Amino acid sequence: MYRCANCGEPDKNEYGDRAHQCDKCGSWIFVKERPSEKKVLKSD
Ligand SMILES: [Zn+2]
Repeated sequence: MYRCANCGEPDKNEYGDRAHQCDKCGSWIFVKERPSEKKVLKSD
């Protein structure tokens, strides 16, 4: 899931690594949305 870095509009389509543009603001910058999905490795 990608989200526009400018206006925060979620990207509806999955384009993989192809360039895509925001419907709302026309921005080409998208950020991958990962809601606090951090892998914690327990080593002890
Ligand atoms: Zn946008």
